[in-house]
Amino acid sequence: MQPPPSLWWSQINATSPRHSLRGDVDVDVAIVGGGYTGLWTARELLRRDPHLRICVLEARVCGFGASGRNGGWASALFPVPAASIVATYGRDAYTRQRLLLQTAVASLGAAARDDGIECDFAQGGTVSFARSALQENRARDAVALAKSHGVSEDDLRWIEPTELREIAWLDGARGATYSPHCARLQPARLARGLAESVERRGGRVYENTPVTRIVRGQGSRRAQVLTAHGTVRTDFVVRATEGFTPALPGLRRHVVPLYSLMIATAPLSEAWWAEYGFDTFPTFSDERHLLIYGQRTSDNRLAFGGRGSPYHFGSTIEPRFDVNDHVFTHLNASLRELFPTLDVEVTHRWGGPLAMPRSKFPYVTVDHDSGVSAAGGYTGDGVTLSYVCANALADLILAPGVETTFSSLPFVNSPARRWETEPFRWLGINAGLALATWADHHESRWGRQSRASALLERLMDM
Ligand SMILES: Cc1cc2nc3c(=O)[nH]c(=O)nc-3n(C[C@H](O)[C@H](O)[C@H](O)COP(=O)(O)OP(=O)(O)OC[C@H]3O[C@@H](n4cnc5c(N)ncnc54)[C@H](O)[C@@H]3O)c2cc1C
Repeated sequence: MQPPPSLWWSQINATSPRHSLRGDVDVDVAIVGGGYTGLWTARELLRRDPHLRICVLEARVCGFGASGRNGGWASALFPVPAASIVATYGRDAYTRQRLLLQTAVASLGAAARDDGIECDFAQGGTVSFARSALQENRARDAVALAKSHGVSEDDLRWIEPTELREIAWLDGARGATYSPHCARLQPARLARGLAESVERRGGRVYENTPVTRIVRGQGSRRAQVLTAHGTVRTDFVVRATEGFTPALPGLRRHVVPLYSLMIATAPLSEAWWAEYGFDTFPTFSDERHLLIYGQRTSDNRLAFGGRGSPYHFGSTIEPRFDVNDHVFTHLNASLRELFPTLDVEVTHRWGGPLAMPRSKFPYVTVDHDSGVSAAGGYTGDGVTLSYVCANALADLILAPGVETTFSSLPFVNSPARRWETEPFRWLGINAGLALATWADHHESRWGRQSRASALLERLMDM
């Protein structure tokens, strides 16, 4: 089994897969999916109760999914705008959630350090550059809007070019927003390190073990997890399969898999970096519609990604969708536009599926009657959110009925909303992607907002 061809996987010693499940086992908690959600949950449960019998069942190898391929932003971002959270759950709930996410960035780094995981964690914050008058207005508006929701200058502020040059620089930057609540990390090192940590704490990790079905428990009959060569009987099953979820029986419309793609350059010289800064490793983006994200890696490369890959009809997930030459060419061109003096080759190209729920709110659910639990739906903000949701799952499983900071997060145990049937799903999502691409193209060509921006906003609200 080949691990995905990301820069991150090429930097770790790819060990042979762990044993797959052969025969039947009996555990307290069975976790389906060996990404951050599954592994943090196993780690948190074992940290709180080392006597628990826990197994992780991973279809390929731990970190095979988005957790081993992402942009390495451990941010305090949340996939739903503040105004919608306030409208749905109220201002206090929004503020509690925001503060918890901000703290979680450093907590995640500390937890990894405690477990001896070397994952290049560096909390240098994040900058979102403004490269046109329109982008500057959008960035300043974002700061003002955040302020109206109680976000202080310490958490998000506009910075002028003189100060920006001290942190990070891009050609044509007119300023940027800056938030200290983000760390860059090496994603695959975190995922592989977590799997080892779970084993050290006494959990069992099975790889090359695709789960074919989850059977709910009922009355005295415990839940079951079915695989080709063995069945797990368990009190709780945690489904942590994120972008791969629609492939499980009965979950086709639960989330949609969206593809995010990345490229990485060869290492750049210290002299080159001296021109641009990034000495404290802030992650970076800009104010366009179609998300881009980048980081300076520990070996001085640029790792840079973006959305724009189409949604595939029927929520299909296939390895061939991890690559898209059109998107890679676009990413390469965007990177060279941001850094015109870039004089090294792109050495790595890869991608993978993330999951977007219909409500856009992530989900954490624990059902004590059937034993079936799940977390995910992070829409590309899952590095920190998976750590937060794993803590919520551990609290809900071990201390039912007790309100904790994690289990009382507003979106925890909220009812799910299913996606529309096809072809409406395909039409709606790809229309949104096309509008975002068109709006960016129009803005960079004409320097003013297009009607597509307003349409896009309305579509996002649906
Ligand atoms: C290219 C890219 C860039 C991203 N960048 C960022 C970023 O910078 N910051 C950020 O916060 N988020 C980012 N994300 C999103 C983030 O990586 C994910 O939200 C997060 O890793 C989700 O973790 P997870 O464990 O829930 O899912 P995954 O990591 O996808 O893990 C799910 C696992 O379940 C396994 N699985 C699936 N089906 C089965 C089955 N039937 N049986 C057994 N196992 C199964 C899969 O093999 C996989 O290993 C990015 C995602 C992508 C794709």
